[in-house]
Amino acid sequence: MSNDLDSLLRSPKAYEWSRKAIEAMEANRVWPTALNFELWMHYVAAKDGDVASEINTVLSSGQHFTEQVAATIAEKHLPSAKLSGEILDAGKSLTEELESVSRALESARESSEAYGQQLASASKSLEHDENAEAVRAMVETLSVATAKVRDENKTLETQLAETNDELGRLKEHLEQVRREAMTDALTSLANRKAFDEALAATCAEAQATGEPLALAIVDIDHFKKFNDTWGHQTGDQVIRFVASVIGRAAHTSRFAARYGGEEFAVIFPGESSESALAVLEAAREEVSSRILKRRSTNEDLGAITISTGIADLQKDEPPVGLIERADGALYASKHGGRNRTSIAGPEAEVRAA
Ligand code: GH3
Ligand code: MG
Ligand code: MG
Repeated sequence: MSNDLDSLLRSPKAYEWSRKAIEAMEANRVWPTALNFELWMHYVAAKDGDVASEINTVLSSGQHFTEQVAATIAEKHLPSAKLSGEILDAGKSLTEELESVSRALESARESSEAYGQQLASASKSLEHDENAEAVRAMVETLSVATAKVRDENKTLETQLAETNDELGRLKEHLEQVRREAMTDALTSLANRKAFDEALAATCAEAQATGEPLALAIVDIDHFKKFNDTWGHQTGDQVIRFVASVIGRAAHTSRFAARYGGEEFAVIFPGESSESALAVLEAAREEVSSRILKRRSTNEDLGAITISTGIADLQKDEPPVGLIERADGALYASKHGGRNRTSIAGPEAEVRAA
């Protein structure tokens, strides 16, 4: 559930956790390096999580929380560290491949240097000796040397072709790793990381051009109860269903992402909250009008509803402000009775659809 934690770490509570993380590091005499900070944020934000339990094991063993310890925990539990591990592996095989090509080049250079020396000494002996037998012997030596150089060149060519193939595979692999790092595995929508990047980029663009931009945050209603009743796996199917409805609504330049556990976000570059409202209201109706069935047993699961908050980007507003106001509108939808869409005012006030 690293996705969930990821969203916790970017919620308004993150500041409170940051302070707690720093206090906890100080109390345990841990340096506030960037990696330690990331780990200790997980520690304070998810007390029952894997990172917290690893840290507790280290602390209770009386072991010092060294950089090595931090790196080991990060590699096991932080997705970003796993990712950079993969990139390091790719980089390592690239380096090996390049080293073997440069060895082959070096050996080809040595052979042709030897070939050049043989040619020089052959022409020198020709000056003094015009005897046919000696010329025949020299020609023989030269053709052996020529064959050797030709073989070396052939090896070199093969090796270069292999390197080229390997580079192609590495490039593909890196692209795939990058795609996976940006995609939510359950829904195939963009994940939180991709969303953060897209929001930063589209907000910057909107601020620069003065074009409008709206952000919607969608949350499934009473989902905890649904999970408790039908189980997590059926819950996952519902998340996929809602994701597919939202994904379809987010065509053209719109950008839909899984924002957290049962929350989604849609960026509407160039559009106002009014146009986002029409889209999200249609999605809300589509979701709530569908009677869901459990795949395995065909049981009737009833209908699911979603609540949404929308906000328009304000002049000079940072993305985090826009998220907070969309979140505020979402809470207004929840408090207003759920299964509805609300638009945030420029400040804090909200109106419901
Ligand atoms: P509200 O209408 O106020 O949003 O109520 P809620 O129960 O949906 O809200 P709350 O945030 O309390 O609970 C969200 C629940 O979503 C908690 C968790 O059980 C569930 N959830 C989060 N991520 C996943 C997931 O990936 N799969 C499944 N099946 N459930 C998840
Ligand atoms: Mg929620
Ligand atoms: Mg919910």
